[in-house]
Formats: sequence, C-alpha cells, structure tokens
Amino acid sequence: MKKLIIANWKLNPTTLKEAQKLATAINRTKKNTVVLCPPTIYLSQVQYPLVGSQDCFWEEKGAFTGQVSPLQLKSLKIKYSIIGHSEMRGIGESDEMVNAKAKAALSHGITPVICVGFGTTVEQDDLEVTDVLKQQLDMDLKNVNASKVVVAYEPVWAIGTGKVASPEHAETVGIFIKNRYGVKKVLYGGSVNPTNAKGFLDQRNVDGLLVGGASLIPSYFNEIINM
Ligand code: PEP
Repeated sequence: MKKLIIANWKLNPTTLKEAQKLATAINRTKKNTVVLCPPTIYLSQVQYPLVGSQDCFWEEKGAFTGQVSPLQLKSLKIKYSIIGHSEMRGIGESDEMVNAKAKAALSHGITPVICVGFGTTVEQDDLEVTDVLKQQLDMDLKNVNASKVVVAYEPVWAIGTGKVASPEHAETVGIFIKNRYGVKKVLYGGSVNPTNAKGFLDQRNVDGLLVGGASLIPSYFNEIINM
C-alpha cells in the first residue's frame, strides 16, 4: 500500500534557484505518493508531479493582504494544502481559522492536511494526548467531510528537535483519529529521518509522513520516499 509522504520546506530555501534545484534532486518515485510543499512564492515555479502549499486562506479574493486563496492555488493545480501547522498555531492560528481554511480548501478540490499536536508535551500518556487532539479536531473538523481530509499528527515537542515519538504511539493516535472522526489518512510528523522513518511507515494506521528538516536534504528525503 502506497503511503503519502509530504515535504514541508517551511521558509526554505532562500532563493528560487535553490528551490528548483532541490525539487530536481527529489526522485520521481512510484513507491509512494510524494508531495513537495515549497514556500508560496515558489509554488508556480517548482516542477514536481505533486506540489502542495503551506497554507490556504478561507476567502477566495479581496482585501486580505499577504494571504493565498484557494482559487489561486487551484489555478496552479495545487492538490494539497498544509493547514494548522504548529508554527502557525504558535503565532495565533486558532482552531476556528483552521476549520474555515479546511472548508475553503475542500470546496475547491484541495485536500487539507490538518496538523494537530500543538500543545502536547513529551511526558503525556496516550490518553492525555488524545484529550488535546479532541479539543483541536472537534473544532478543526466541525461540519467538514472528514473522510476527505488528511490529518498529520505532529507532537509539538518532536518538531525540529531530533526527538521522535514511538511508532506505536503514532499508531495509537492514528487509530483514535480514524475511529472518532472518520478520517481515512493520518500522517506522522516530527523529526522523521531515514533512520526512524521505516518504523512509522510499517504501522498500519500511519498512512504516511510529514517531513520538515529531512526533506531539505535530497539524499535523506529520497531514502525516505523510496522505502
Ligand atoms: C514539520 O515541520 O512539519 C516537521 C515535521 O518538521 P521536522 O521534520 O523538521 O521535525
């Protein structure tokens, strides 16, 4: 079964040339479904079979300085949009905003990749983690067709830290999210690298990965997407 592996380049690299070079260095593999999410400014100029955005505003057009609209993304044939990343939640993106963005994306045929896990701590047991996720997802998925979204579980303490959750924990969370909300695909994200990726990909209810840092290193990312 193919997994969905999404590269979140965040605010990298710093030139268009480097972004294009990076995309060229990533294998066009058939083993998994791979989506590259470069910064918005490069979206139209990065060549890869599947390109996604790192955000999607809830309005289609108008006086909304700095935003990117679902219609604009659709016009570039963008098929996936990361929404509710912890780095956005950390600067004020609320669950209500995530919900509005998810609805807007879906209404234009873009699959929202809703990130949850903001507010989790490394000490929490599975039950405590699911309490945090319930708070987020009850609102994020309100009146949303959950079978059409992807949820990325990213324990906030694991993002960019080199600390990683256990594959068994990710599996437990995957089962919880699928059973409670009817979501069909749950990804794991947080310090994924070529050494730990297989453990997650082997889990039945972890349908893929959201990869930050390692997606900027072609040799690492190619290894992950060819597993
Ligand atoms: C992310 O930002 O979504 C992420 C998972 O980052 P990293 O892989 O660097 O922890």
